[in-house]
Amino acid sequence: MSLSPEELKRYDRQIMLFGKEGQLKLKRTTICIIGVGGLGSPAAIYATAAGFGRVILVDKERVELTNLNRQILHWTSDIGEEKVVSALKKLTKLNPNVSIEVINEEIREDNVHEIIKEADIVLDCLDNWRTRLIVNKACVEERKILIHAGIRGLDGQLMVIVPGKTPCLYCVFGEIREEEGKFPVVGPTPAIMASLQVLEAIKLATGYGKPLLNKLLIFEGHHTSFSEIPIERRKNCPICGHFD
Ligand SMILES: [Zn+2]
Repeated sequence: MSLSPEELKRYDRQIMLFGKEGQLKLKRTTICIIGVGGLGSPAAIYATAAGFGRVILVDKERVELTNLNRQILHWTSDIGEEKVVSALKKLTKLNPNVSIEVINEEIREDNVHEIIKEADIVLDCLDNWRTRLIVNKACVEERKILIHAGIRGLDGQLMVIVPGKTPCLYCVFGEIREEEGKFPVVGPTPAIMASLQVLEAIKLATGYGKPLLNKLLIFEGHHTSFSEIPIERRKNCPICGHFD
């Protein structure tokens, strides 16, 4: 695998950071983005623009008018369209070097392994804990890196899960909490958190920089602050406790 003259030019500003080798590592990396909504839209744009070789998008929903304040891959003319199809149309125009694959399915316990099996890195761009914990368990079992983000209102959180090395979502958050259903949000909140998800993915794929490990990052938008909470693996975690 090599980089074409077009790619060398396209990625010029990031090759300045991590070299052609780093860019090739991105090209060899498959990233699976679960959820193509508020988080998944900007995450998919940045992952595609950065030149991950394969981007797999997973979502079952269709575009609705109330999505458009934050789900920036979907536009007014896409209302009623499948989100993965709406996303695919724009992303292939953004960067034809990237192989974009779409899976129009809802994540369940019986399909999650098949969906993530070819991914090197999985992004949790979901909006509910029931599905998140299914993805968390599967990523631990398949030893896939999982980058979690969650948002509400002006606040967000970020956590990187490297199975066997860092806590998993269950270690930190435990059993399924009450789902809120429809919650308030402004577009920049998921954009901030999704940008951080892709930044972590770029660092992990290229080896450039230092990933956020064993820390939960909290963003509070009301007064604009970031803080970190140290987190630890739970030895008795039913999901990842079996690792040494
Ligand atoms: Zn765990």
